[in-house]
Amino acid sequence: EAMQDPADREERILVSVRLRPLNDKERARNDVPEWECINDTTIIYRSNLSASDRSLYPTAYTFDRVFRADASTRQVYEEAAKEVALSVVNGINSSIFAYGQTSSGKTYTMSGVTEYTVEHTEREFVLKFSAIEIYNESVRDLLSTDSTPLRLLDDPERGTVIERLTEATMRDWNHFKELISFCEAQRQIGETSLNEASSRSHQILRLTIESSACEFLGNDKSSSLAASVNFVDLAGSERASQTNSAGTRLKEGCHINRSLLTLGTVIRKLSKGRNGHIPFRDSKLTRILQSSLGGNARTAIICTMSPARIHVEQTRNTLLFASCAK
Ligand code: ADP
Ligand code: MG
Repeated sequence: EAMQDPADREERILVSVRLRPLNDKERARNDVPEWECINDTTIIYRSNLSASDRSLYPTAYTFDRVFRADASTRQVYEEAAKEVALSVVNGINSSIFAYGQTSSGKTYTMSGVTEYTVEHTEREFVLKFSAIEIYNESVRDLLSTDSTPLRLLDDPERGTVIERLTEATMRDWNHFKELISFCEAQRQIGETSLNEASSRSHQILRLTIESSACEFLGNDKSSSLAASVNFVDLAGSERASQTNSAGTRLKEGCHINRSLLTLGTVIRKLSKGRNGHIPFRDSKLTRILQSSLGGNARTAIICTMSPARIHVEQTRNTLLFASCAK
């Protein structure tokens, strides 16, 4: 019924794509950038598609925003995340996702994005910080040295809550930096390499603003409010598909990531409208994020992509995900 409402635009998922530069290894192999941003919203595949590929793949993809390899993280934050992240000061929950294959730039992007948000908000509100990692559907507190998996509970008022999760009240900018380094040290490494672990795990950094309503912009009620913004550095998107290129197909099957698959389904359903059953409860990630994804929550997805020829197949999967999220 609100089809023509200008607020409609805000209800959609904000979808952006960030191209990273070729790295030294790729350059040393004489790889070439296969993708090019031709303006602020469209990215194209530069090579000619073979006759058979032409019927399968578009050459141009359009999103809310696309970022060239020389764009700064500050610019990405300003144009692809800030508005959604700062809706938290109006009492609206939000989630910002970095989605893309391993080594495409998710962590690089998300680290800057978190910092800029905190810079913007730290002095005005009471901020609480918590951090978790989801690894093989097991939830771990990144602000604790205790690695015992945390249980999810259903609270009649607050929805899904994470039992015994540490919440730190943020004192200042330096305190935030300390908390972030602590989290990094706690991330699951185990016997696998850091890259392998980060390709399989999701990290959620959550900032919660607790405040009396008069401190929220544009709100004149006197009750107290809490809202959260979640920064989600997802597992490598190659974990969402069974159709990896032959070179990366190792122990296929056990690499499929349930939370990532379910997130894909949830995002696709949300982007088609909020009616009907949305399977939030099918994975830990979507259960935890339910109140920051559905309802009136705001969502931004930044899809990161490698320009390299060897990654074209995975990059197309990422662009397909991004297209479905619009
Ligand atoms: P992911 O988290 O997706 O696995 P990373 O963020 O760790 O990938 O990025 C892989 C490497 O590429 C890192 O060394 C990172 O510094 C570099 N990198 C990623 N994105 C960019 C970018 N936009 N500009 C410059 N270097 C980047
Ligand atoms: Mg990473």
